[in-house]
Amino acid sequence: MIFRSIRWRLQIWHGLMMVGVLIGFGVTAYQLERATRMHQVDQELEVRQKNLRQSLREGSREGPPDGPPGRRGDAPPPRHELHLPPHLSRYFSKENSPAYYGVTWTRDGQESGRSDTAPPDVPTPDGVRPEAGTITRTRGTVREAYSATPPGEVVLAGRSIAPELAALRGFALGLLAVGGGVLVIGLAGGWFLVSRVIRPIDAISDTAARIAAGNLSERIRTEEADSELGRLAAVLNRTFARLDDAFARQRQFTADASHELRTPVSVILSQTQATLARPRSPEEYRATLEACQRSAQRMRRLITSLLELARLDAGQDPMDRQKFDLSKIVADALELVGPLGEERSVRWTTELSAAPCTGDAEKITQVVTNLLTNAIHHNRDQGEVRVTVRAEEGGAVLTVADTGVGIAEADLPHVFRRFFRADKARSHGDGRTGLGLAICQAIVDAHQGRLSVTSRPGAGSTFTLRLPAA
Ligand code: ADP
Repeated sequence: MIFRSIRWRLQIWHGLMMVGVLIGFGVTAYQLERATRMHQVDQELEVRQKNLRQSLREGSREGPPDGPPGRRGDAPPPRHELHLPPHLSRYFSKENSPAYYGVTWTRDGQESGRSDTAPPDVPTPDGVRPEAGTITRTRGTVREAYSATPPGEVVLAGRSIAPELAALRGFALGLLAVGGGVLVIGLAGGWFLVSRVIRPIDAISDTAARIAAGNLSERIRTEEADSELGRLAAVLNRTFARLDDAFARQRQFTADASHELRTPVSVILSQTQATLARPRSPEEYRATLEACQRSAQRMRRLITSLLELARLDAGQDPMDRQKFDLSKIVADALELVGPLGEERSVRWTTELSAAPCTGDAEKITQVVTNLLTNAIHHNRDQGEVRVTVRAEEGGAVLTVADTGVGIAEADLPHVFRRFFRADKARSHGDGRTGLGLAICQAIVDAHQGRLSVTSRPGAGSTFTLRLPAA
């Protein structure tokens, strides 16, 4: 569980990094401190060791009565005896320098002298050569420096480094305490930072959860608009707004569709109910059946349109893409719709020039027929419909301009909406569904074309269809 949480993963990673850095820093600082202290001790031992060598040389020149250590073949001097000139004994006397001691060996490895401060168990250094210079070693709590003289005697100076080791332990404890403090402060800072970073993510997931539960009007509050999370929240908010809008349109569509279907069903029920209430004449039955038939036809039109829209929405309607001349399709549609115009004495004016484009000719015929029928239906008697087709760069353009009632400015943005009818009362009776332009729009969208409208209320409307050439 912990390892799945981003907060804990970041915190653990941050903690491990800090521990690594602190250990590296601590070990380096400890080694440096130890090296400095040991270097100091070594320098001191070097001085004493040199003094000892000096004293040996002087001793061998003076030749003390009980046998200098440099003379070969003599019996070794007794242990615990210091064979050093008196002026140098202060370096290794219990009174003057209790911490230091010196030991010398003959070239045969026999101990030839030692200070009274020397511990009893100083091992003889092996294989020391004069050219090797001074060698240092640490034995437990003592440090020793030794070297060989040109004749082959070995001289060693040493001292206890217990105080240095104690100081180093103190230094290590200090490092540990400071490192621990830095780690705690760093982890607390990291926790605070991670919490700040995580907070917007928590807010985003909480809001998303509320939206998923059905509250589509919720939005993520974006305080840090410029951060990466702020931008993510802004993108999500736009997506939620679009979803909200889509759901609202879906709800509206379902409500409108139910309402549209309820009307013909109500007509059928009320007609049959009234007719069946008592015996009727054959003419009355016929009239009722005809009313029922009209309602059923209306329902069929509606259901067909709804199904077509659903298929277009789902992208299931296969588009049979082919190259065709838009002017040819418009001419055929005019032939079909022409008689409708004559009924209302509407005059056609056409200006058709070849305009090649690509798409499903049958579906585009449906769009053109719908635009022409609307131009007649919403026209005034003895009005005019002007139809032009021309080619333009990249495609074909059709305009259908009428001299009808026009569309109010407030209605213009809604004419392509499903079930939109400017005059609901008037269009209900004549079998218009308010889905025609919505279907046209869906078909044109599927062709990557454009369908637009301009209108002057009272003077007429102009619908423009643009289709791509390829
Ligand atoms: P309908 O089946 O009601 O005609 P449409 O989708 O074809 O449905 O049209 C929707 C609405 O757009 C119509 O009810 C009408 O108010 C308006 N409209 C469409 N074409 C025209 C036009 N040529 N002139 C004026 N209004 C129009």
